[in-house]
Amino acid sequence: MKTATKTVKSKISKPSGKTGKMENSEFHDFFIDELKDIYWAEKHLVKALPKMQKAATSTELAGAFEKHTQETQEHIQRLEKVFELLGEKASAKKCDAMAGLLEEATSIIEDTKSGTMVRDAGLILAAQKVEHYEIGTYGTLRTFAENMGHTDVQALLQQTLDNEKETDIALTKAAEGFINEEASAE
Ligand code: FE
Ligand code: FE
Repeated sequence: MKTATKTVKSKISKPSGKTGKMENSEFHDFFIDELKDIYWAEKHLVKALPKMQKAATSTELAGAFEKHTQETQEHIQRLEKVFELLGEKASAKKCDAMAGLLEEATSIIEDTKSGTMVRDAGLILAAQKVEHYEIGTYGTLRTFAENMGHTDVQALLQQTLDNEKETDIALTKAAEGFINEEASAE
């Protein structure tokens, strides 16, 4: 615990040496903390997605939200497996970033009229911000797991990362489809 007073920032910027392995448990603790953060994020997202599904105008977008709700359940289960593999209790720690993104999604629903394409455009925007946040998080955590030699954890995080990327692509397609639909209605 002698280095406990150092900031997280200084730990990250410190090179890990030739082995690529983090030498102390401090980094391990940081990794666990970040897993708790994304665990909180997923657990709150899974409750928000059905609301976004209900708010959506197009059946395609509603379907995309329904699909991702099920996938998000899997992301939660995968994180629980990750905690288990690391010998840690699965616990959530408030993720301010996800809380903010979900707040934004709620305001978009409040500020747009039901049954409009503007509502859907707003929902796509909110959802893609969430997916990009998740892609950034899982991408980094996957690399951390790799650096620490946790191959099994790395594989699980990679699976979720791949799914988040697929979801982002599906949302882009929904946005393109909706633009075409809007254009053809004119
Ligand atoms: Fe997710
Ligand atoms: Fe996601």
